[in-house]
Amino acid sequence: MRCLSRPRLCRVLPQRRSPGCCPQDRRSSSAALFQSHMPTKTTCPSSQVSDDEQKQKRENTRSLTMSGHVGFESLPDQLVNRSIQQGFCFNILCVGETGIGKSTLIDTLFNTNFADHESSHFFPHVRLKAQTYELHESNVRLKLTIVNTVGFGDQINKEESYQPVVDYIDAQFEAYLQEELKIKRSLFNYHDSRIHVCLYFISPTGHSLKTLDLLTMKSLDSKVNIIPVIAKADIISKAELQKFKIKLMSELVSSGVQIYQFPTDDETIAKINASMNGHLPFAVVGSMDEVKIGNKMVKARQYPWGVVQVENENHSDFVKLREMLICTNMEDLREQTHTRHYELYRRCKLEEMGFTDVGPENKPLSLQETYEAKRHEFYGERQRKEEEMKQMFVQRVKEKEAILKEAERELQAKFEHLKRVHQEERMKLEEKRRLLEEEIIAFSKKKATSEIYQNQSYMASGSNLKKDKDRKKISNAQVLEGGSKRASESMRAGSLVYRAQLEGESRRARESLRAGSLSYRAHPLPQH
Ligand code: GDP
Repeated sequence: MRCLSRPRLCRVLPQRRSPGCCPQDRRSSSAALFQSHMPTKTTCPSSQVSDDEQKQKRENTRSLTMSGHVGFESLPDQLVNRSIQQGFCFNILCVGETGIGKSTLIDTLFNTNFADHESSHFFPHVRLKAQTYELHESNVRLKLTIVNTVGFGDQINKEESYQPVVDYIDAQFEAYLQEELKIKRSLFNYHDSRIHVCLYFISPTGHSLKTLDLLTMKSLDSKVNIIPVIAKADIISKAELQKFKIKLMSELVSSGVQIYQFPTDDETIAKINASMNGHLPFAVVGSMDEVKIGNKMVKARQYPWGVVQVENENHSDFVKLREMLICTNMEDLREQTHTRHYELYRRCKLEEMGFTDVGPENKPLSLQETYEAKRHEFYGERQRKEEEMKQMFVQRVKEKEAILKEAERELQAKFEHLKRVHQEERMKLEEKRRLLEEEIIAFSKKKATSEIYQNQSYMASGSNLKKDKDRKKISNAQVLEGGSKRASESMRAGSLVYRAQLEGESRRARESLRAGSLSYRAHPLPQH
C-alpha cells in the first residue's frame, strides 16, 4: 500500500465547498455521517415486521424538551471525531477496454500519479488488479483502493469478459460476510475491500453501446453502484456528444440497466444531485499534463489545433464527475454499497444457507428459533437419509446374498460334476495301473527266464571262445612272420636288381669313355 499525501486535494471546486472542510460544515456533515450509521430505510421485505414494531414503540414514546443544556448535542461531533481517527476507505472499480484512459482519469481525479503500469492487449483472460494507497487531506485519512480490469475487451471471444468482474465483487462481499459471521470479529480494523463505485468507461464511438458494455453493466448493476462515463470525450464533437449521451441513456433504460443515481433525499444536495443526474453519463477527459493558459497552469491535452482543458466545464464533464464522486456523494456511495448491494448479497447468501426471518404463517423468527428449526430440519433430513440408506443397504445386501447364493449353487453343481469326472478318471487310471502292473510282472518273469537261459548259454560258449582266441593268436603270429620274411626277400631282390643296374650303367659309361679317347687320338684338334 502506498501512502500519498496531497494537501492540494481540498481545493476542488470553486463553486462548491467540500462538506467537512471547514468547521461550519462539520455539523451538517456530521449529521449526515450520523444518519449514515443509523439504521436506514431498506427495501428488504423481511424488515417489514420490525418496522411495524418500531412504529408501535415510537407511538409509546413521549417527546420532552429539556429545561437546560445537557450536552448530548455533541454526539454527532463525537462520531465525526471517531470517524476521523479511524480514517475512511473508498474502493473504486474501473471497468473498460485497455487504453480507454482509466489510469489517466484516476490520476487526474486524485491529482496524483499512481504510477500504474501500462497494460498489454494480449492477456488471454480478464484479470482484476487492486492497488491500495493511503491519501491524506487536511486531517482526513483515506485508504483508496483502485481496482483495474486488465485485459477487458481484448479477447476475441468476449463472452466471459464480465464474469471475473462479477466474481471479484462477490468475493469482496463474501470476505466481509465471513468476517461478520465470525464469533470473534474485528470489523473495526477490518480492511473493507467491497467496491463502492464502478466507473464504467464507454468508448466515444458516437454510435451506441457495445453488447459487451450492456452485458457487463447488466450483470453488475445489482452488485455495485455504476457511474457510466464516456472516455476520451475530446475526440467527439459537441453535437455528436449530446446525441450520444441521449442514445446511451435510452439504451440503458430499455435494457433495464440500473445505474447509480445521485441521491436527492438530502435537501442540501438534492438540487445539485438532481441536475447532475441529468448530465449522466459524464463525458470526461483525463490528463496529468499542465499547459499555461493565461497566467495559470492547468491540466490539459494539447493538440495542434488547440488545448482541451480538463477542468473546463465547456470542454468536459470531468469537474462534475469529481464533484459528484469525491466531494458530494462519496459517503452515499459507501452507504449504498453497505445497505443495498451488500445487504442483497448477504440476504441471498443467508437464505441459500437456509436462514429466514419469518417462519411458516409469516411469524417472525429469531436467529435462535431459525437455528433450532434448521437443526430440527437437518436432523429430520439426516434421519430420513439414514433410513433411506439403511433400506438401500438391506436391499443391496439381499440382492448380493441372492447373487452369492446363485453363484454358490452354480459352484456346487460344477464341483459335483468335476468330482464325478475325477472319479471316473481315477477309476480308469486304476484299471490302467492294474494292467500295467500285470504287464510289468509278466515282463519281469520273462526277463528272469531269459537271464537264466542267457547265463547257461554263456557258460557253455565260454571254453570254445578261449580256444578260438589262441588259434587266432597263432595264425596272427604266422601271418606276421611270413610277412616279414617276404618283405626282407623282396628287399634283397630289389637290392640285387639295383646293383646289376648300377654295374651295367658303369660298364656302359666306361665303354663310351674308352671309345671317345680312341677317336680323339685318331683325329687330334688343330693348333693355332
Ligand atoms: P488504460 O489502459 O485504460 O488505463 O488507459 P491509459 O490511461 O493508460 O491511457 C491510454 C492512452 O490514452 C494514453 O496515451 C493516454 O494519454 C490517452 N488518454 C487518456 N485519457 C485521454 C483522454 O481523455 N483523451 C484522449 N484523447 N486521450 C486520452
